[in-house]
Amino acid sequence: MRLIMLGAPGTGKGTQGKLLSARYGIPNISTGDILRSAVAQRSELGIQAQSYMDRGELVPDNLMIRLIKERLQQADCEGGFILDGFPRTIEQAAALDAELQQQAKAIDWVLDLELETEKIVARLTNRRVCSQCGQDYNLLTNPPPADHRCAKCGGTVIQRSDDAPDTVRNRLKVYEEKTKPLKNYFQQQAKLLVVDAEGTVEQIQAKLRAIIEENR
Ligand code: AMP
Repeated sequence: MRLIMLGAPGTGKGTQGKLLSARYGIPNISTGDILRSAVAQRSELGIQAQSYMDRGELVPDNLMIRLIKERLQQADCEGGFILDGFPRTIEQAAALDAELQQQAKAIDWVLDLELETEKIVARLTNRRVCSQCGQDYNLLTNPPPADHRCAKCGGTVIQRSDDAPDTVRNRLKVYEEKTKPLKNYFQQQAKLLVVDAEGTVEQIQAKLRAIIEENR
């Protein structure tokens, strides 16, 4: 099964993608996580990507397309995968289609998580994340331990610098301009499944699984 998690930042793509990954035994590929680890390691990619990420802008398509092509050629993607945060532009979507076509494969479904802007802003500004394992927390709904140590791995829980209010606003603007048109793109391919992302993590996960099972 090959899935794309679509939706604005803060709609829960990462959280839900990781849970689906565990359920179906296929990798969850988060381009944001890959970039953040490249930045932390100060690799060539990280150095190129950092200034875009800090401003809430998209990293250029050519870099992202190269990154995802390399990742999809790895052996663990043979049985399927979940893409979280890619594609984010029409150009990326077209490159992904072309790459998969070459491998005689295709995306099965695009799960589009929908949430009101006000709720997105509240989720993002209250989001905290483990700097070591990427575990997500939320100050309102799922607070991290009082000592800011991750309950899963003991790493330090931080606020992502791009979750600051000004950067969040820019990321949402960039989403509207560059990523939202993908809904139409995938609707034309009859692959778009729209999911209301309001509710608890467990409720949304149950909804996603039901939709996947219905369409398998
Ligand atoms: P995310 O964790 O998915 O919210 O991604 C964090 C940041 O990484 C984004 O705001 C972008 O700067 C960058 N990024 C992640 N995925 C992509 C992509 N497919 N295209 C361009 N930039 C990306």
